[in-house]
Amino acid sequence: MRSFCVFVLSFWMAASAAAQTAEPAHKQPVLDTTSMDTTVDPCTDFYTYSCGGWMKKNPIPPDQSSWGTYEKLQDETLVQLRTLLETAAKAGPGRSANEQKIGDYYASCMDEPAVEALGTKPLAPALASIAALKNKADMAAFVAGAPVPSIYFFRYHSAQDFKDSSQQIAYLDQGGLGLPDRDFYFKEDAKSADLRKAYVEHVEKMFALMGDSAEASKREAATVMRIETALAAASQTRVARRDPHNLDHWMELPALTAKSPSFDWKVFLAKAGTTNIASLNVASPEFFTAFDSELKKETLADWKDYLRWHLVRSQAQYLPSAFMKENFDFYGRKFQGLEQMEPRWKKCVNDVDGDLGEALGQVYVEKFFPPAAKERASKIVKEIQAAMERDIQQLPWMSEETKKKALEKLHGVANKIGYPDKWRDYSKLEIVAGDYAGNGNRGTRFEYERGLGKIGKAVDRGEWEMTPPTVNAYYDSQMNNINFPAGVLQPPVFDASADDAPNYGDTGGTIGHELTHGFDDEGRRFDATGNLKDWWSELDGKEFEKRASCISDQYSGYTIVDDIKINGKLTLGEDVADLGGLILAYVAWKDATKDQKLESIEGFTPEQRFFIGYGQSWCTNERDEIKRTRAITDPHSPEKYRTNGVVSNMTQFQEAFHCKADAPMVRKDRCQVW
Ligand SMILES: [Zn+2]
Repeated sequence: MRSFCVFVLSFWMAASAAAQTAEPAHKQPVLDTTSMDTTVDPCTDFYTYSCGGWMKKNPIPPDQSSWGTYEKLQDETLVQLRTLLETAAKAGPGRSANEQKIGDYYASCMDEPAVEALGTKPLAPALASIAALKNKADMAAFVAGAPVPSIYFFRYHSAQDFKDSSQQIAYLDQGGLGLPDRDFYFKEDAKSADLRKAYVEHVEKMFALMGDSAEASKREAATVMRIETALAAASQTRVARRDPHNLDHWMELPALTAKSPSFDWKVFLAKAGTTNIASLNVASPEFFTAFDSELKKETLADWKDYLRWHLVRSQAQYLPSAFMKENFDFYGRKFQGLEQMEPRWKKCVNDVDGDLGEALGQVYVEKFFPPAAKERASKIVKEIQAAMERDIQQLPWMSEETKKKALEKLHGVANKIGYPDKWRDYSKLEIVAGDYAGNGNRGTRFEYERGLGKIGKAVDRGEWEMTPPTVNAYYDSQMNNINFPAGVLQPPVFDASADDAPNYGDTGGTIGHELTHGFDDEGRRFDATGNLKDWWSELDGKEFEKRASCISDQYSGYTIVDDIKINGKLTLGEDVADLGGLILAYVAWKDATKDQKLESIEGFTPEQRFFIGYGQSWCTNERDEIKRTRAITDPHSPEKYRTNGVVSNMTQFQEAFHCKADAPMVRKDRCQVW
């Protein structure tokens, strides 16, 4: 299970027609006083005080749903990656094997006339296979062999065993929906009802684009909605899935077959290339029972419509602009409020990053990631780990026995900074000049099979789940490691040459955040080696929950948009990590600089600069549509509360800005876990 640092949206397949040029803006410093709004009292609204100027200077571009420090940095990184890809695309003979792959893939994506000329031909083989299905049992072989198998019915992949984190096992999970979360099928407010109506219309239009009559398209869209609603009803909620015990159901193959006898599991597993599976983890057993009754209930003809819909949904990005546009109008506009598609080059860079991320990342790191950044970040990581060690030792609410285990876990955390020690081997992935759909589908299939190939093998702890240019970070509770890609260790979130205070407030806070994930509501259920094992005494567990519920109550009181409040149970892990992370970063910073005489800079004390550095990492403008979507799908609170919710719990903040006891940024009943 992985906890990310900033939010990521994966359901929207972006793209566009017009190529635009964008040049990286002059890199913003880690602390930028011109981005502040000093007319606002920091003790009243610290977020606006830190970010008011930034928000005025940085309106949301029409191709973005939210525009913040992280998104802007990611956008600048895309420009760097584009120059690398254009060079790789042009280079003639003498290119390395990786350069050929990333260059030809990128060029095939950029060749829009070729994509238009090809029309719906990339769909033809899979459509023919669907048409040829003779009975419902044949669907198993089709899905397992499809270019994007995980888009149909459920997800099948490899994962670490919850009970023995050293082993890779087969893992089966709910899936098969076209909306970004099961809740979208059931929410009763008017906006959600509108979204469902728009979804059915979108499905209908995609069928029409494939050449179906208006009448048939309407019927087919209704079928898709009916099937998906049934699957959604049996799907676990995001909150339920935060408890790993709800996902841990080891089953022998006959037990799975008993749950879903109508699906040919033997054929599916064999065709996916995993013939010898005798047992596996079924994350959401109820889903597979419901799946079976749906299989029985719906006709083969209706299932064919369901398969055709998910085929075209997964392939729209490789198809002519009419498909791309319709896809954008629904997923881009309705869920994210986008006004226009992003320029095609951004989509193409993201595609290469998605399918050949470590080939691209290797070139990126050589050119853009200075060794000094890695050294400096590694040093801060060690200091923050030391701060957490002292913190655990001094905790008044935790027993000595549990402290011993907590320290064991802390000492077991592995740090990964920048990029992998060993790069992924893409030699078996064939990239053909001019074959965009083929490249994309082979890339997806390569990753699918690479994942399944791990089943039954020992876990490789050196692997990364994010590519080096990614502007994000994560903690992995089954690996018990924290991961900081090169992309997140650059200005304005990190600058090895800048003064310490804002660096510790910003990247130090992120490091503390990831470390704290090992001890949040989800992470605390795993031990030092990443096994799902309760190492807490009952009383200590209760004490933790008491403190955590202070935080979930606090955040549940914040309004996101309209009358939608934060779901404090969904965001609990991230909120705990934000608060614990910043406290640890503060302590580590104080300790690292205890022998230095720190001066005010630009009129701000070192303590103030620490907090402003933190606040400015979250400067964000955001559209209402994405706020509503994130309220359901995103375990992170909105940036405003990631700032104000945290500092209002910290006495260090109150002291730094001399806030009165009754100021809005000073909570009367402060929450603190770590
Ligand atoms: Zn996080």
